[in-house]
Formats: sequence, C-alpha cells, structure tokens
Amino acid sequence: MGVRTSKIWRDGQFVNWEDATIHVLSHVVHYGSSVFEGIRCYETPEGGAIFRLREHVRRLLDSARIYRIPLRHSAETLAQACIDTVQANELQECYLRPVVVRTGQRMGVAPDDSADAVETFILAWTWGQYLGDEALQRGVDVCVSSWRRAAPDTYPTMAKAGGHYLNSQLTLLEAKQHGYTEGIMLDSFGFVSEGSGENLFVVREGVIYTTPISGAILNGVTRDSIIRIARDMGHDVREQSIPREMLYVADEVFFTGTAAEVTPIRSVDRIPVAEGRPGPVTRAVQQRYLDIARGRAADPYGWLTLVPEPAAALR
Ligand code: PMP
Repeated sequence: MGVRTSKIWRDGQFVNWEDATIHVLSHVVHYGSSVFEGIRCYETPEGGAIFRLREHVRRLLDSARIYRIPLRHSAETLAQACIDTVQANELQECYLRPVVVRTGQRMGVAPDDSADAVETFILAWTWGQYLGDEALQRGVDVCVSSWRRAAPDTYPTMAKAGGHYLNSQLTLLEAKQHGYTEGIMLDSFGFVSEGSGENLFVVREGVIYTTPISGAILNGVTRDSIIRIARDMGHDVREQSIPREMLYVADEVFFTGTAAEVTPIRSVDRIPVAEGRPGPVTRAVQQRYLDIARGRAADPYGWLTLVPEPAAALR
C-alpha cells in the first residue's frame, strides 16, 4: 500500500498530498540526483519526540554538500520544518522523510545550479517495524549478497543519496527472491560492509565489532547511538574491518538503523547465529536504545526534540 500523508512541506509551505509533484523532465528522474534523510519521531510520556534531529539535519546538509546541491534552507529552518511537519499532520509516532531533489529541466548529466532547480520536501507518515512485525523480538534471517558496495572512490557513502539505493535495491531484491529478509553486502575489498538499509554489529567473546566508516557504509545515526550506549554500558566497542567468516562464528549479530532500530540477526546464509536467538548484548542495547527514544528512561545525551502540541487555534 502506498504512503498517504495529509500535509507535505515544500520549500517553506505546506501543500496537499496531490500537489507535492515534480516534472518528469526533472534531473533527479534521469540521473538519481537526490539526497534524503530518514528520521523517527517517538511517542513519549511528554508527547512526540524526534530522535537525534540535529544529527539527521547535519547529515542532510553534508549529503547536499558532497553532491554540490545548492540547498536554500539552513539547518535551523529544516529542523523547525521537521517539527512543523509532525504537528501539521497531527502525528506523534511517525517517520520523517526530508528529501532534496534536483528538478531543473535542463537535459544532460550536468545539473542546473540555479536555486529554483533544487526543491526540498518533508513528508511524515506512520511506519511500523521496517523488517517485519516480529523482527525486533525474534530476529531476522539474512544472506551475504552477491552484490557488493562500490569502491570508496566511486560513490561517496557518507552521503545519503537516492542514486546509491540502486545498489541497495539489487541486494534486497536478491535476498527476498531467495527467501531472506535482508542482505549484507561486502565492500570492494571483501570485508563486511552493511545491509541495504542498516549498519551491522557483531559480538564475539564479549567484544562488539562494527565496520568503520571507511568500509563503504552510511555513517549511521543509530550506529553512533549504539556505539555510545554500548560503551557507556561498559562494553568494548571496536570499529574495525570484519571478515565475512566472522558472521558464521559470531555469538551475536545485529542491524541498526532509524527504520530497523536494533534488529537481531538469527541466521546468516541459513547458518544460525550461535543458538539462532537474539543474544543478551543485542537485547540489552536494544532495550536501552528504545527506552531512551520512547522517553521511558532519562535521555542523558540530549537526543530527543519534543514536538509541542499544536495550539488549538492551528488545528
Ligand atoms: N546504511 C544504509 C545503507 C541505510 O540506508 C541506513 C538507513 N538510513 C543506515 C545504514 C542506517 O542509518 P541511520 O541509523 O542513520 O538510519
């Protein structure tokens, strides 16, 4: 089923669903020139709260900068626009999708750099568990993809760009065709990189390993949250290259992502991870992450931005 949302932010104004359109001649349609974000807003005892809004907006600006897309809006404007979009749609628990697209109708690979040839939209809708209803509790079955992440001097993976997701689509389509929930890609050197939309962690003998940002990964906001949470819980977390076979001898493996949150992996290539059940380290960091995001535990990191209730007059 398609996403339906009532109010979409479009360069400073709210438009209705049917008016949030772009022309088929837009540069993005032909050459994949968009950058975007995925952000979650959680229902907390104090109302809706956006998780790590500042970091997501920073990454959007970074992505635009890497691809030299002239963005008309400041970080402050975009952060406020995210808050306004949650309010305008009268949502609490939701997913936010800011997207910046090159629209100019000049054909050819070289983009039109005038300011009106770039448009920014923010959508908000309710999104449940990305990898399936039981993924967070029971874990998912995944494979190592035959598709690899591109070499570091090809696509800049610190940018979250629409075009990069062609590679993710191939991975996910292949994984699903073979009956898996998700695929893990290796980087161009053959080390473990990440899932089509998640970063990856491995636990062995009490040590937590995750791919470094030089491993063709998106520099995930959830990845950063989990590194900090795990270290503050006393775990040894190491960012280092992970050989493929580590996945088969690990005590625990899990994905992180805004949409996937902290999802245990129970098998890789049909080989069970340890006993084939979510392990204690995965459960502990998952619990702590969701407790902070949902306002059930204090937020010592300042990660939550509360969305004020819209004034009655604005409803
Ligand atoms: N890798 C890829 C390819 C992704 O699409 C995502 C989701 N944005 C992630 C990792 C996780 O990043 P984050 O925790 O910032 O959502």
